Amino acid sequence: MLTLEEAVDRICAQIQLSETEQVPPQIGRVLRADAISELNSPRYDNSAVDGYAVLSSDTVKASTAQPVTLKIAGKAPAGTVYAGRVESGCAIRVFTGSALPDGADAVIMQEDTQIAEPKKHLVNLTCPVTPWENIRFRGEDFKEGQIVLPKGKRLSELDMPLLASAGIQKVDVSKIVKVALVSTGNELVEPGGPLAPGKIYETNRLLLQRRVELLGAMPVLFPIVEDTLQATIKLFQNALHECSYLITTGGVSVGEFDFCKDAFAQLGGTVHFWKVAIKPGKPFVFGKWKDKAWFGLPGNPLSALVTFELLVRPALAASMGASQLSLPRIQAPLGEPMQNLGDRRHFLRAQIGADGLIYSAGLQASHALHALSQTEALLDMPANSTRAKGEVASVLLLKAY
Ligand code: AMP
Ligand code: MG
Repeated sequence: MLTLEEAVDRICAQIQLSETEQVPPQIGRVLRADAISELNSPRYDNSAVDGYAVLSSDTVKASTAQPVTLKIAGKAPAGTVYAGRVESGCAIRVFTGSALPDGADAVIMQEDTQIAEPKKHLVNLTCPVTPWENIRFRGEDFKEGQIVLPKGKRLSELDMPLLASAGIQKVDVSKIVKVALVSTGNELVEPGGPLAPGKIYETNRLLLQRRVELLGAMPVLFPIVEDTLQATIKLFQNALHECSYLITTGGVSVGEFDFCKDAFAQLGGTVHFWKVAIKPGKPFVFGKWKDKAWFGLPGNPLSALVTFELLVRPALAASMGASQLSLPRIQAPLGEPMQNLGDRRHFLRAQIGADGLIYSAGLQASHALHALSQTEALLDMPANSTRAKGEVASVLLLKAY
């Protein structure tokens, strides 16, 4: 049986880079060219505080006992540029973000000053300021012409202020790929519909839809497929016609109602491999039909999530040219003992406690939906391994990427 790494390598070797387009920056899209700043940030030297722009040499002798008194020669509210020049003996009232008036080489904080009542145009400074104190310099964050985000970066909301401030209105990104989501199973009913005996609500498309969206791809939901060869072939035909990637759940095990592999073969698809040495998710299938890829995930919701994250995510990310293919991995101490007595690598559903330690998310069974909803991370436990409380373990973060 393939290891996880072998399976990912085999999949990624079959994945083509998607086309590119130029669009306004959007969360989830992957940059295909470096984003280059058109502006300096800060755009101009400016004040980091509310206070007075001064010549630092004027303030050297200032103390609470013997304040230095300066004339308030003008005001420069944020959004304006003071027309004059700061001369020795004078101060200009400034605010956080105000452009630094010419001549000034420091800003003294308002808290270190007092207005010299009743002569309101005079200000007393109660301590000195050093040259360039409380000033944010032009270009100290990034400069015009500088790469602010590299090719391969997936854009998040945290990147948006950077791109906007850099004056970047369009970026080169991967075109959005369409991903068909198909659930198979005679027992499955659309959520909310009447539940006859022996039926359950379908849940995998709900789960995978959002995970696909977060990757910057477009999920296309297809109706539930009954467990017959004919229905499965028809659905595969439709889905492969409309989308570049097909994700099915269920119907890939060894049961006599598991038709996915047969249906795919009858359409002329090639199964590249079946089964990966992981738990949950062993019956995962990967196939190609022309230039389109099929990921056959096992039906249990936990198995579907784990195989999606470990095997489908890298493929979709690679197709977009993303530099990060896998979930972020950290080494973190366990808050309770954990064990994997099986002979397959086990991805246990885990939670990150308020104490920063890793705990089990609940029942470790592939149908356990309550544990699924508690899951924040996957604890990567090698075959036949035990870890004591406090021992450091390898953990994949599900929520942050
Ligand atoms: P299968 O992989 O088709 O053998 O399904 C394995 C288990 O997962 C069975 O208990 C199914 O009822 C359940 N299952 C399969 N597909 C879904 C789905 N889309 N939503 C919820 N449960 C499912
Ligand atoms: Mg089934």
